[in-house]
Amino acid sequence: MELTPSSSTFQKMLAAARGSGLGVGLVPTMGALHAGHISLIERAREECDAVAVSLFVNPLQFGPAEDFDAYPRDLERDAEKAAQAGADCLFAPAAAEMFPDGPPATTVRVEALSSILEGAARPTHFEGVCTVVTKLLSLSGHCRAYFGEKDYQQLVIVRRLVADLSIDVVIVACPIVREPDGLALSSRNARLTPAEREVAPVLYRALSVGAEALSTGADGETAMGSVLATEPLVDADYAVVRDAETLGEPREGASLRLLVAARFGSVRLIDNLGVTGVETP
Ligand code: AMP
Repeated sequence: MELTPSSSTFQKMLAAARGSGLGVGLVPTMGALHAGHISLIERAREECDAVAVSLFVNPLQFGPAEDFDAYPRDLERDAEKAAQAGADCLFAPAAAEMFPDGPPATTVRVEALSSILEGAARPTHFEGVCTVVTKLLSLSGHCRAYFGEKDYQQLVIVRRLVADLSIDVVIVACPIVREPDGLALSSRNARLTPAEREVAPVLYRALSVGAEALSTGADGETAMGSVLATEPLVDADYAVVRDAETLGEPREGASLRLLVAARFGSVRLIDNLGVTGVETP
């Protein structure tokens, strides 16, 4: 696997791969690779001839009070994991490589979708994500880009951004990888205290109970709220049932997505679950 911190090398490598007729896959990450990230790389490996992983802890997507400095960084370990999972190239730029003149003058914001749910709690987050994703996709050129459903709102926003700006990239959604007790893998899980870790699977329990309620015609949001309320260590932010495509109020006949966010001490976790074959309430 080739490791490069240079955007022009990354750009040239992918262009050369395409030039030799290879299909390119891109997996954007912030590092601290775990089995969730690995599942994306392995999927790209199955579906593409050349697989690139990007590793950039994006300063633009962290709010002033968030954990940018504390975000785990271990390039050597991540490079080993990416190579083992089948990546051909790891693009790991420094912030000064991505933004040599400091924060960029041009930013990308998907209006409406960026100020609801996660955006309500983190007002500048998605603009930071979209600006960097746009830059990564411009550098990579035509490819299949793999995103996890773990960050479901991010996935919906990236799909919208790619459609609105006619970016020549196919977005591939990958299922959430979970611990055996249901907790969705996340680099933030390592920051939970043992007591918080023990109760954290309540998020998935709430989603499952919410999905079950919907299937019997009951109110999914009430059901999720009651489960979350049983755990005193959990400070729930939202537990909602939304239209899976727009994240707005469900349209007639639309697929539904249940989404939750909660704080466990200083750690904020999110999770979500799709339901199929359920009538819109
Ligand atoms: P991050 O490094 O947190 O920016 O995540 C990089 C990509 O990995 C995003 O597309 C995430 O949605 C995806 N991802 C993170 N955790 C998981 C998980 N548990 N299962 C599947 N995909 C994940």
